[in-house]
This record gives sequence, structure tokens and C-alpha cells, in this order.
Amino acid sequence: MRYGILADIHSNLAAFEAVLSDIGERGGVEEIWCLGDIVGYGPDPVECINLLRTYSCTCVAGNHDWAAIGKLDTSDFNPYAAAAAHWTARHLTPEAKAFLEELPLKLTVGDFTLVHGSPSDPIWEYLFSADGAEANLSSFDTSYCLVGHTHVPVVFECDADPPSCLEYDLPLEAPLKLAEKRLIINPGGVGQPRDGDERAAYAIYDADQNALHHYRVPYDIELTQRKMIRWGLPFSLAQRLGAGR
Ligand code: ZN
Repeated sequence: MRYGILADIHSNLAAFEAVLSDIGERGGVEEIWCLGDIVGYGPDPVECINLLRTYSCTCVAGNHDWAAIGKLDTSDFNPYAAAAAHWTARHLTPEAKAFLEELPLKLTVGDFTLVHGSPSDPIWEYLFSADGAEANLSSFDTSYCLVGHTHVPVVFECDADPPSCLEYDLPLEAPLKLAEKRLIINPGGVGQPRDGDERAAYAIYDADQNALHHYRVPYDIELTQRKMIRWGLPFSLAQRLGAGR
């Protein structure tokens, strides 16, 4: 079995479609694991949800998904993110809203835990450091945990006793073999990468090889930017897509 691991689509249909077509060219996947923030920031929330629903999909909620349906107050968001969340809320169909309402915060699939932020705080915590990863080891039972939220691809490789984690770059294309160590892995963001590489990021987990592959995919950034400007979404959110920051 092969699984597509997608985080932070953020209503960016052009990026999402480019990733899906890249997955197709690489032989496809049986299922998509979606790590939350399907909506927020970008111009195509309903289109992204509808497209996701055409796949067999295991999905958790992110902070922007909750904000768009009123489950999370936007007072802690920066003003641009809050403006985009309110715009998204106004543009969701009842079906799209119902889909977001149903999303759990944490899921276990085989030996993987899926969350948006971190296992101990799935909605808010950003896992940026080995110390943060280490503090989360007792909050999930599986060998591996998949996270999104930072939009930065990374691997934390951890020992259980005593608890300690090492941070390293998620290798591009080369297989990351999943062995005996516990791992927390972020595949990067599909719809708003923030590691300085503007290409959409995602991963494929191949269960037969027990390996994960990380890929970057160019997409039509200007198309998404034009739509954002047309809809009156904050200009800085459109601009940052071009910088991948
Ligand atoms: Zn996000």
C-alpha cells in the first residue's frame, strides 16, 4: 500500500492539483493522509475540499479548519490570517462546512499518529525544535507521528530511554527508511511552503518498502495569486507564496 501525506493545502487548488498529478505520475497512492489546514489563506476552499473528498482520505483538522467553522476564535491569529479565515467562513458551502465539522484532531493509522500541530496540542503547538519533539514523545503511542502546521519539512529522530530527539532535513526524493527509532515527520506544506522553496511539498509512504519519500512540485503560483487578489484576500498572503516564506 502507498499513502500520500499532505499537510497545509490552505485552499490552494493549483498547488493541490499539481501534487495530485505528481502522485499520479509516480504510480499513484491508495489513500491520502491529510494533516489539516485544508482551508485558510488561499482562494479555493470549497474546490479543495471537494477534490479531497473524491479520494479515499484519512484527515485531521488544523487551526485554520477550525477557525473557518467558528470552532476557534481568530483573536490569536495575525490580522492577515484572521481576515482570510473570515473570508473562508463566508465562502464555505454547507457541505464543505459539514466536512470540516467532522474532522477529528488526532488519528491513529497502523503505526502512525496523524495530527496537525503536535500530539499533545494538535491545534496550536508548532514543532520547530528537537526539544519540542522530545516533550511530545509521551503524547503518542505509535512508532511514528506525522505533523504539519509549520509548513517546513523536517524529521525528528528520537530515542525513548532516555527521551532525546535529533532534528534533520527530510531527504528529498531519496527514501527515508523507517526503522526502529521513533520519528516525528513533517512533509512540508502543499499550499503555502515556508522553508524558502516556493514549490509545493508532500510525501509518499510506501508500506511495502517501509520508506517515506519527500517530493517538491512546481505549480502555477501566479494563478493562485491572481485569484487571491481578485477575491480581495490580503496582498501579503499572495506575495509570500512567491517567496515560499
Ligand atoms: Zn497551516
